[in-house]
Amino acid sequence: MDQCEERPDTVLEIAIIGGGIAGITAALGIRSKSISCKVYERATEFREIGAGIGLSPNAERAMLLLDQRIHAAFKRLATPNTEDWFQYVDGFNKSPDGDGEEPLFKIYLGERGFEGCRRTDFLDALAKMVPDDRIEFNKDLVKIIEPDWNNGKVELCFADGSTSKADVVLGCDGLRSRAREYILGVDHPATRPSYTHKFAFRGVIPMEKAIQAIGETKSLTRYMHLGAGCHVLTYPVAMCTMLNVVAFVTDAGDWPSHEKLTFPATKREVFEYFTNFGPVVTAILNLLDDKLDKWGIFDLHENPAPAYISKRGRVCLVGDAAHAAAPHHGAGAGLAFEDVLALAVALEEAVGMTSRKHDPIEREEAFCAALSSYEAVRYERTQWLVESSRFMGELFEWQTECNMDPIKCHSEAERRSHLIWDYDIDYMIKEVQEVMKLKLM
Ligand SMILES: Cc1cc2nc3c(=O)[nH]c(=O)nc-3n(C[C@H](O)[C@H](O)[C@H](O)COP(=O)(O)OP(=O)(O)OC[C@H]3O[C@@H](n4cnc5c(N)ncnc54)[C@H](O)[C@@H]3O)c2cc1C
Repeated sequence: MDQCEERPDTVLEIAIIGGGIAGITAALGIRSKSISCKVYERATEFREIGAGIGLSPNAERAMLLLDQRIHAAFKRLATPNTEDWFQYVDGFNKSPDGDGEEPLFKIYLGERGFEGCRRTDFLDALAKMVPDDRIEFNKDLVKIIEPDWNNGKVELCFADGSTSKADVVLGCDGLRSRAREYILGVDHPATRPSYTHKFAFRGVIPMEKAIQAIGETKSLTRYMHLGAGCHVLTYPVAMCTMLNVVAFVTDAGDWPSHEKLTFPATKREVFEYFTNFGPVVTAILNLLDDKLDKWGIFDLHENPAPAYISKRGRVCLVGDAAHAAAPHHGAGAGLAFEDVLALAVALEEAVGMTSRKHDPIEREEAFCAALSSYEAVRYERTQWLVESSRFMGELFEWQTECNMDPIKCHSEAERRSHLIWDYDIDYMIKEVQEVMKLKLM
C-alpha cells in the first residue's frame, strides 16, 4: 500500500531507470519525500537473480532513514545468525583437531547485524509498496536526450519506440548501464565493466541437510571458508530453512561472453575447482543441486566512472550503475541504499527551495546543486568500495601480501569491514545539506 502523498505543487518529476534494489528503493525513498517519480524497467516483471543477500548495519541505518517500511520489510525477512560474530575459517587445510576447519579469526557483527534474506522475497516486499502506476515494465532505455534546464524536459527513448519525459533521470540500471553510456559517451572505457577473474557458483541447500552434514553452529551463522584460489561464503536465509552458498573461484582465463553474466553449470564442475578442499567445504558443496549457475564477477575497478552526473546536470548514476563492485564485502546493495538516501535528501532540499522561489534560474541551480552534492559526497566512498572489494576477494584466497597469516588477514578484514559498517549516515546527510548550501551561496 502506498502511504506517500505527492505535493500538489510538485515541481519535479523524476524518472528512475531500472527496477532493481537501487531503483525500487529510490522510488520509495523519493516518494517518502513527497516527490513524484516513476520507474522504467526493462524486464517484464520484477526479477531478482541469485539466492541470498546480506545487509550490514550501515545498510540498515540507510533503509531506516529512507523509509521505515523498507527497513521493516527487511527485518521481517531477515534471518538472525545464531552468533553475533562473522567466522573466518580455513576451509582448505584439514585441521588437526577433527572438526575439519581451523578457526582463523572472527569479526563482531553487533546484535542482529549482517543478517541475510532471500533476494526475491525482499524485492517482492519492496515492489508491493510502489503503486502500479509508478512503474512501467518492458521499457528498455536506449537513448537519452537532455536539453538545458530551461529548454524543456529530458526525453527517454525506449526500445519499443515509446518515449517519456522527466526533469531529472536516475540511472539505476546496473552493471551495464545505458545511463552511464550516455553520461560518459559510448567509447569511454567505463562503459565496459572488467572481469575480475573470479566467478561464483551460487545455490541454496535445505537447512536440515546442512545441519546433518556440518552441524548447527556452522549452518546457522555467517561463515567465510578461506582457501587457496577459491573460497566459500555461507549464511542462513529464509528463516533458517535454507543455507545460502556462494563458492568463488579464481580464473586465469577470460569470461566467455560479453553479453552473458551467467552460464549453466553442474556440481561436477564445482568439484573440478574444490577437489583439494577440506571436509566441511566438501560436505557443503556436495549438497548443492546437480544443476547450477555459474556467475562471472565483473566490476568497474579497471575502468571507473570519472563522474556520476551528466554535463548538463540532469542525469545521474546510482548503485551498481555508478560503482559496480565485486561482492566480497557484501556491500553493493548497502551502498546503493546510502546513495539513494543522499539523493533523496538533496532533492528534498532542492524542492523545498524551489517551492519558495519561482525564478527558473534559481530552480535550475537548486536541482543542479542537488545532483552535484550527491556526487561530491558519494564519489570517494563508493569508489573505495570498488577497490576494497577486489582486495577482499584476494585476501580470502591468500593472494595478498597478508598471505595466509591470520593476524594480518584479520586486521585487514576488520578494518575494511568497519569502514563500511560504521559509516556515519547522519553525518552524510549533514554533509549533503552543507555541500548544497555552499554550492548555492
Ligand atoms: C554474487 C553476488 C553476491 C552479492 N551479495 C551482496 C550482499 O550480500 N549484500 C550486498 O549489499 N550486495 C551484494 N551484492 C551486490 C548487489 O547485488 C548489487 O550491488 C545490487 O543488486 C545492485 O543493485 P542495482 O539496483 O544497482 O543494480 P541491478 O540489481 O543490476 O538492477 C538493475 C536493474 O536495471 C534494469 N535495467 C538494466 N538496463 C536497463 C535499461 N536499458 N532500461 C531499463 N531497465 C534496465 C535491470 O533489468 C535491473 O532490474 C552481491 C552481488 C553478487 C554478484
